[in-house]
Amino acid sequence: MKYTAFLLMAMFGFSYSSAQVNMKFTNPVMNEILSGEYNPVDYMSVKDYSSPEALVGMLSEAVNPDSLKSYLLQLRKFENRNTGSDTLSSTRGIGAARDWILDQFETISSEVDGRLVTGFFQFDQEVCGMMRHKNVTALLPGTDPNAELIIIEAHMDSRCETGCDIDCLAQGMEDNGSGTALVIELARTMSPFAYRNSIMFVTTTGEEQGLIGANALAEYIQVNEIGLKLVQNNDVIGGIICGETSSPPSCPGLNEVDSTQVRLFSRGNFNSPSKGVARFVKLQYQEMLKPIVSVPMMLTLMSAEDRTGRGGDHIPFRERGYAAMRFTSANEHGNASNGVDYHDRQHTSGDILGVDTDSDGELDSFFVDFNYLARNVRINATAAAMAAIGPVTPSIVEYYFDGDVFYIEVSSEIDYPQYVVGIRTDFIDFDSLYYLNNTKAGFFETAARELSIVLTVASIDSNGVESLFSEEIITVLSGTAHPGVTTGKPIKLMGNRPNPFDESTMLSFWVEDEINYSDAYIAITDANGKLVARLGTDVVKGLNEVLYFHGYGASGYLTQTLVINGKVVDSKVMVFAN
Ligand SMILES: [Zn+2]
Repeated sequence: MKYTAFLLMAMFGFSYSSAQVNMKFTNPVMNEILSGEYNPVDYMSVKDYSSPEALVGMLSEAVNPDSLKSYLLQLRKFENRNTGSDTLSSTRGIGAARDWILDQFETISSEVDGRLVTGFFQFDQEVCGMMRHKNVTALLPGTDPNAELIIIEAHMDSRCETGCDIDCLAQGMEDNGSGTALVIELARTMSPFAYRNSIMFVTTTGEEQGLIGANALAEYIQVNEIGLKLVQNNDVIGGIICGETSSPPSCPGLNEVDSTQVRLFSRGNFNSPSKGVARFVKLQYQEMLKPIVSVPMMLTLMSAEDRTGRGGDHIPFRERGYAAMRFTSANEHGNASNGVDYHDRQHTSGDILGVDTDSDGELDSFFVDFNYLARNVRINATAAAMAAIGPVTPSIVEYYFDGDVFYIEVSSEIDYPQYVVGIRTDFIDFDSLYYLNNTKAGFFETAARELSIVLTVASIDSNGVESLFSEEIITVLSGTAHPGVTTGKPIKLMGNRPNPFDESTMLSFWVEDEINYSDAYIAITDANGKLVARLGTDVVKGLNEVLYFHGYGASGYLTQTLVINGKVVDSKVMVFAN
């Protein structure tokens, strides 16, 4: 995968010796709210809702493709939003663009009695010849000053083939005018309503030079111990046409159209908070939004954190332990490569809003689909709103299997009328959901015949809103009597998860008791028995996990074989599908 290495260089090839310094919000009120020092009465909602369903309905109704189009028409006029571009002009460059975005936030705030607190988040770092940089922020204070923050963000900066080219046409409409427009529209549509959690709408700078705007904000949040519930990053979210190239996992082929799928990227597998949020986002869509929309969307949970060799603004947050995921359109027009033979739009001066096909001076063919972008705004709004009004996450305190029946007991600091137990086996997504009504414990039957099973739980409040899901627990089905779990074998190789998989998959095995070992590894072999990879591993009591990174470009069956002290413990077949 030669070009993967190339892309990694293109993406992270900028190295800056100095980290960001002098980080601050230009509006001091922002700090007061983020530290919980405010009276929610000062930020009362201007619109009420009768139920969570009514809220989602009103949010969905308010999202307007024409608004999104008008934001993009304005963003393109700045011509070049490179991180190092002009900050003095009022019409061109990153300075004019961020001033305009701030102006949008201020206008939105004035329409909701000033309850949206606006300003820049600025920091100093030498990037593309410029020292001072500014993210644009708008903060909607929650009704509970102690509740954690929710961030919805997109990078506003753009680029051409050369990372610091401040003169080229870099309208950056798909990447990432689309995400920027989405964030402004979310601020507009969500701001009239009250939420328990505070919500911050952010457009960042410096994404194209190594995620520096998001990194500065994530660092600030961590250093100042600001509770952060989740981050929804939107990057390349409005295009529907597949280019000649696209980063794996790729789209079908040139000019293929997909306007009904969006990909949810997040890092990790077992017990990943980011993956948990991605599942939550999908579940909220299915339960709350899908029943009322005219065009259903497919939300695809991706096993990888991003496309191969690529990255985005969710990563600096995840690196600091926060739950963060990325929304990206199903079809991308390019892989951000460059050179004379590169014809796609990503990271080129061709990343424009559209073309005037009949030469009448008006764009009549758009590369960003405003209806598709609007559907992604609604998906973001639904997830963020439910996370922001939902109950507190419970935890699993006891569980065991008895044959095909399992027992689970939940603990919660607040009593709720319902809890939902999410179960998954080989897949990223839930296989099934079980409900506990007016109780915190229960027995369930499961059809799963998997040897390993992953459990998590969420609260459901009296309005029917779900919390985020708890830490996951992995256990094994067994035929032995409770209490306690045993595989009946001292070491058990489990099925890889997910299976089938695309880019990477988690291999795991369960060890009943500590053992002495000198050498342990998992061998990956292809259909012909040829060794593809040899993954060394520790052997500890309980769950052992080894990530297998396969990449793309080959498909079919692989076999994983666990070998300890030179002896084969077990083998299992894995399916690589892409
Ligand atoms: Zn981007």
